[in-house]
Amino acid sequence: MTELSSEQEQKLVDAAREARGRAYAPYSKFFVGAAVLSADGTIVCGANVENASFGATLCAERAAIAAMLSAGHQSLLAVAVYTEADVPTTPCGICRQVIAEFGPRAIVICATPSAVQTFTADQLLPAAFALKPSS
Ligand SMILES: [Zn+2]
Repeated sequence: MTELSSEQEQKLVDAAREARGRAYAPYSKFFVGAAVLSADGTIVCGANVENASFGATLCAERAAIAAMLSAGHQSLLAVAVYTEADVPTTPCGICRQVIAEFGPRAIVICATPSAVQTFTADQLLPAAFALKPSS
């Protein structure tokens, strides 16, 4: 796992907090922001996007990772997830698998206004599914 400085970590959490303000969560009212740090130092944000057809809902983490890929970055060093829940919110199972795809050794920072918990991607999804891409 790559260590982040406390300044880098705070910058990522701040970006996730700001992204939370752009969440579309009219059904659950559970607003989530995420920010990802790519290998070249770029920070890209995402927020959860709910849908009337609940299965079409997109989590903030996957929104941020899709935006990171769309911006031309494929290596994920860290992810911050920000909610205003009572305790830090960890990524759901699908997001853990997506984090493992692009950042198997990524740091995952889960933050609220009053608490921060930090994990590695491997701690959140040990023995992640992997399929060797075909060439
Ligand atoms: Zn998720």
